[in-house]
Amino acid sequence: MSIKEKIKNLFKLETYINLNVLKEKVIEDMWPHFCTMENVDMYVGKGEACNWCGEKEKEFLLSERDRLTKESARQETEQLIIMEMELIDEENAPEHSGGRG
Ligand SMILES: [Zn+2]
Repeated sequence: MSIKEKIKNLFKLETYINLNVLKEKVIEDMWPHFCTMENVDMYVGKGEACNWCGEKEKEFLLSERDRLTKESARQETEQLIIMEMELIDEENAPEHSGGRG
């Protein structure tokens, strides 16, 4: 498997895990909401907007997706750096069949 494929698979896995976490957070008929108007964590009924700030579930999901995507992207970059370093190490590793000497 090429380095690029490895990274692609890692990114897929991260996205999958994040989506499952998001699913777990959304309980039946409710969606989680941190209200910036009241500074409280609460649940709002499905299809309803927050009574205080008027935020809708769709906005929550979009912002949450955005946040998780950014997190994944950051982790992906870290993985990319680690893999590149490993690749450089491999390239610079002494060969058994070295013709020196
Ligand atoms: Zn609110």
